[in-house]
Amino acid sequence: MTAAQPVVSRTRATRQASAVDDALAATTDFRTAQDLHAQLRAAGVRIGLTTVYRHLQTLADTEVVDVVRTATGELAYRRCATTNHHHHLVCRHCAHTVEVEGPEVESWLDRIAARAGFTDIAHTVEIAGSCPRCTAARA
Ligand SMILES: [Zn+2]
Ligand SMILES: [Zn+2]
Ligand SMILES: [Zn+2]
Repeated sequence: MTAAQPVVSRTRATRQASAVDDALAATTDFRTAQDLHAQLRAAGVRIGLTTVYRHLQTLADTEVVDVVRTATGELAYRRCATTNHHHHLVCRHCAHTVEVEGPEVESWLDRIAARAGFTDIAHTVEIAGSCPRCTAARA
């Protein structure tokens, strides 16, 4: 019955992935993989840190979550407010994140890619700066 094995592990993987999804849905704050892992373990979910990391990476790749780098260099994740393609303005001091759409950026990229003969293009645009609150605090 070795054929049944992949089905079992796929089901478990799906269950673990949806546990991570639920943990992200429960908060609007940025959480590190370690935070989410500890939270899931405390809730009785049997999941490895590597699995949490891998699923978060998948979510980040498909723009389901926002990713920021904390002051200590760790990556922190938060479920995006929108599922549409968008970009982020990220405060480099407090990690406050604003989701922005950039139709001009999209059409510019399409144009230059087409001109260079590229197809199947993808891009990442993240804008770092000081948010209004941090700007005021530093003034
Ligand atoms: Zn986002
Ligand atoms: Zn800030
Ligand atoms: Zn874009």
